[in-house]
This record gives sequence, structure tokens and C-alpha cells, in this order.
Amino acid sequence: MAKLANLHRWASPFSTISNMTRRRGSQGPSHSTRHSNGADTHGSVAGTPPYTVREEPIGTAKHVRIVGIGAGASGINMVRTLRRSLSSYEHVIYEKNEKVGGTWFENRYPGCRCDVPSHNYQFSWRPNPEWSNFFSSSAEIEQYLSRICEEEHMMDVIKTRHKVVGAWWDEDRGLWDVSVLNLDTGTEFRDQANFLIDASGILNHPKWPDIPDRESFRGDVVHTASWPSNFCYANKTVALIGNGSSGIQLLPAIQPKTKKLYHFIRTPTWVIPPRITSMTMLGGPAKSVLSEIELDEKENFSQRQIEKFKLDPEFYHKFVKTIERDINGTFPLVLNGSPAQVFAASKVVQYMTALLGGDEKLCEALIPKFPLGCRRITPAPGYLEALRTPNTEVITEAIAAIVPEGIQLESGEVIKVDAIICATGFDNSFAPRFPLVGREGNVQDIMKAETPQGYMSCALAGVPNYFTFLGPNAPIGHGSVFTLSEHIARYIARVISKCQTEGIRALAPSGAAVADYAAHVAAFMPRTAWAAPCRSWFKGGEETGPVTALHPGSRLHFFHMLERFRGEDWEYTYDGSENRFAYLGNGFSTRELDPCADPTWYLEEEADRPARW
Ligand code: NAP
Repeated sequence: MAKLANLHRWASPFSTISNMTRRRGSQGPSHSTRHSNGADTHGSVAGTPPYTVREEPIGTAKHVRIVGIGAGASGINMVRTLRRSLSSYEHVIYEKNEKVGGTWFENRYPGCRCDVPSHNYQFSWRPNPEWSNFFSSSAEIEQYLSRICEEEHMMDVIKTRHKVVGAWWDEDRGLWDVSVLNLDTGTEFRDQANFLIDASGILNHPKWPDIPDRESFRGDVVHTASWPSNFCYANKTVALIGNGSSGIQLLPAIQPKTKKLYHFIRTPTWVIPPRITSMTMLGGPAKSVLSEIELDEKENFSQRQIEKFKLDPEFYHKFVKTIERDINGTFPLVLNGSPAQVFAASKVVQYMTALLGGDEKLCEALIPKFPLGCRRITPAPGYLEALRTPNTEVITEAIAAIVPEGIQLESGEVIKVDAIICATGFDNSFAPRFPLVGREGNVQDIMKAETPQGYMSCALAGVPNYFTFLGPNAPIGHGSVFTLSEHIARYIARVISKCQTEGIRALAPSGAAVADYAAHVAAFMPRTAWAAPCRSWFKGGEETGPVTALHPGSRLHFFHMLERFRGEDWEYTYDGSENRFAYLGNGFSTRELDPCADPTWYLEEEADRPARW
């Protein structure tokens, strides 16, 4: 990350500029030069007190305060992971909405559902046998998350209607100063944290199209990600802009009720057959287990099936694992030239051509020439069929402007409409929605100025004690985000525990490690369809350019990568004495002093031992 010289632009409102200046002078890892510049034989440096033993057993956890941002799936799971992994900590989550659920609370457009099978789009620790459909609606997922929060008493930790509006790292105190706006009272207050965990989501910041004069339109303009519950489209002439996952899900849900539907698309998109059909067609592990499942034509589970899931946990578990294995196995589809990609692409072309009735104009507009997977692959039952209905018209000509009566095309023609729906996606720039000021400046500025880079998707160079879910190059296109967030949460919890018990005040991945990681990402991506020329949010909304949103490998590759903490990639500052071994303490271990701990744990079978790093 480039250092930003304009200091006052990103100074914390909680500290003076002179403090900040002094801090920058003394910042940086303080551990490595210490012993080479004058340490005496007892480890003391001239002018500093001699090193003394800390009167604590090894394993003593210092108290820390953790502030989380966002109570979607990742934030909620983090509550559980911290409860199970840490001691001596406080945790608060600030959530801007009135309810938990994140994307599944916000995205309420008609037809909105998840395209990952329900039984895999759940936490491994909270299996739900009662999903009503093979693909859950946003409302059902939101209810699942709300129920967990209630049953697990998580609302003690989560403060809804509280929006984080700024966060500043203070090197001297080793703390984040966090500014929070209470949306009910309108008052802003300060909190502080040893660790900041950003679970505000990658698909959370709705993006309006860059079309001039949107405000001039005299009817309603709505966005799929902030759908007004009272928005009425029945018997109206409606424009729908965008054919990403949201647009193609929405269209068949509203088309039958509209008087006329103009669908504006500027890039073709791959629409795959319903997932059950493709799973069966590709002949993966799911094929046989699906034949044992009772679903109606709308992919609803029969009541008998739900009862079987409840009464036969072994079958339920086999079902979940088999579908998961099938989804995890689809990574080769995005590898350029792989037999799986060639086979699947030819089948999808056949499928799309058939559903478009061979209509030349529609096939030209809809069927991509770029590789399968370049844009996110989404099944959209009913979408292609709806495009052939008499009240629907596809327009591929570019939009010049929005005018009071509707949408003006580049040719000058005005398409008159009563309402405009923007299914135009999200801001995927990785710039936080609030100033996030680390050692090297405001991350908002840095992300805008440079190609977004992260450390294994969950940390940033120069931003100490900060973790993020789904940062740059996360496996967001690789299957269920739920189990993904479980892995990331465990990783974060282990790092925090390390800091608590090893006297680490602050840590951040080094710039060199992040640069090496980015070089690997850049070298790997051309192997995938994601890097091919086509406009996609995987590439920050650009047609060509670096893939910033996706992980360079499969889902299991990501899990494997996160298994071990690579200490050599991080820079540290230490508490108090700044001797990295101060945590060795008084010669005893908490494991021999804790009356509840098993002091001979190492004699147990390996499988029965508590997991340690
Ligand atoms: P998206 O994939 O980014 O699609 C945005 C659409 O808006 C694109 O078709 C884009 O066209 C179009 N657009 C933007 N600006 C435009 C302009 N000025 N003129 C014309 N068209 C314009 O957004 P999304 O559909 O909301 O999906 C985002 C992600 O959310 C998905 O990829 C998926 O990960 C997630 N999601 C998942 C589900 C699901 O599980 N089923 C459902 C919805 C969303 P270009 O392509 O030409 O830029």
C-alpha cells in the first residue's frame, strides 16, 4: 500500500495531530532491531529498565475488546466461534439495520432466493431439516438467522440500528477508536477495540447505474437490493436494467403482473439449467442422492421428505455431505479449456437456444461468446421463457440518459415507462463505507487508488488488528458463504487467541507478504474463465483487468490454505516489555494450574485432544 502523506486527512478525531506525528515517527515493528542495538547480557538496552519475568503462567489470556461490524451470516457465526474459542474478552457487533440477516434481510425483491442448495447454505453447527425448498427464499434464510440469534442469546452482543461511521488505529494505545452512529437517537459515540472485525459483506453496498439524470424521472426508481415493500409494478410499464443474478431472478417473478416489461441488457449472460437438472446432467455425486428426494415441480420438499430429514439424521447428513461434495467439485468448470468447461458450455448453449425458441435476436443478445463462468453462473428458472412472452422486450442498445418519461437510448428514442428497476449490483471496490484509517492512511483512498489486495482475503497490510470477511480475492463465487465464514472465523479467533496469550499488542500482515500473495493471484487467474474479457464484478465491474473478487483456487484449496497460521507473514508489536518471550512468564503453564484442565492431555488419543495451534 502506498503511504499517504496528507496526514491531517486521516487523523483520528480522537487524537491530536501532534500525537499522530509522534506516533508515525515511532511506529513500525519494534521487535526486530531491539537486541542488535545495545542490549546488555540481561536483555536490557542502555537507558531502559532490565527485562524482568512476568509473574504469570504461560497461557494466560489478556483481556481484549472486540468490535464487529455487521450481523449477517459472518457476524452471527463469529459470535459463536468467539464464545467457543476465547476467554477473557468482550464482544459487541454494530449492525446498521433494524434486524440481523445482512444481505438476506436487505434483498427482498420478488423471486429473491439463494442459488446454493438450502441444506448447504446453513451453518454446519445448525442443521435445519425444515427448509421448504431446495433453494431457500431470502425470507426463509433471514428467519433462520434471526432464530439462531434468539435461541443462542446473541442479541446480547448485537446492537441493531447502530452504524459504524469511522475507525482509526491508535498505535500508542494499540487500539481502534471506533465512531458509531445510533440511528434511533441520531447521536454519535466512541467505542474502542483491540480488534476490529469487519463482517459488513461484499454484496452490501447497492450500486446505482452511472446513467445521467436519474433524478429527473417522474416515476419510481428502485434498486433490487433496497426493494420498497410497497413498490407496485402491477399493470405498469416497467424498465428492468441489468441481467446479473438479481435481474434474471426478478424478471420471471414480476413479468406476469406487468403491463409491459422492457429488459435493458448490455452484456450477454450464461443461464444454466435448474441446478437439479445440471447436477443430474453432469453426473456428479449428487445424482444418486437426488433420486431419493421428494420434490414437487417448484422444487419444494414434500412434508414426508421433511419428516424423513428430521427422523433420519444419518440420511440427512449423507444428503448434505453429498450435495456439498458435488458443489465443491465444480471448480474445474472455470478452468480454461478443461473438459468439464467444454462439455458444460456446449450443453448450456443447447439449453439456452432451446429455451429461447431458437430466436436469432434473443440468442445473439443472450448467449455469451465469452467463457462459461466469466460472469457468475446463475440458474434462473423461468427467465429465458419469460423473455419470449408478448409483454416482454429485450433492449440491447445502450442507455444515454434517464428522462422524465422514461429511458432515452443512444439513438435518441425514448422508451416511456412508469417505473425503473435497477438490478445493477453492488459496489465491489473493497473501499469500506466509512473511513478506516490504519498505519498507511485511509483504506477508502488506498482501495480506490490501487488494485485491491488482501492477505488470504481476511486481513490488510498496514491495518493492524483488523480482520475482514470476504475481502479482496475471497472464495465468494465458490459455494456456500456459511461454512466459508466458519473457516474464516476460526482463523481469526486463533489469531486473536495468539495475541492474547503471547503478549502481542498488534499484528498485521507485512506488505511483502501481501505483495507476494497478490503476485500469485495475478499469475494464477489467467487460467480461469474469471479473467477472460467480459464485464463482471469479479473484475471490479471492468471488462478486462485483474480479478479482485475471487480466490485463486477451489473452495477446498481455500480451506486448506487457512488451516495454518503463517507467522512469518506478519509484523508484530508487543505488550509492555517488548520482549517477544515475556509471555513465557513464571515457568508454569495454565494447563497445570487450571483445576478444570486435563494436565495429562497428551496421553489421550490424538482425536480427543483439544485443537491447538
Ligand atoms: P451484477 O451481477 O453486478 O449485475 C449488474 C447488472 O447491471 C449487469 O447486468 C450490468 O451490466 C448491469 N448494469 C450496471 N450498470 C448498467 C448501466 N449503466 N446500463 C446498463 N446495465 C447496467 O449484480 P447482481 O445481479 O445484483 O448480482 C451480484 C451478485 O450478487 C451475484 O453475482 C451473486 O453473487 C449475488 N446474488 C446471488 C443471488 C443468488 O444466489 N441467486 C441472487 C442475486 C445476487 P454489465 O454486465 O454490462 O455491466
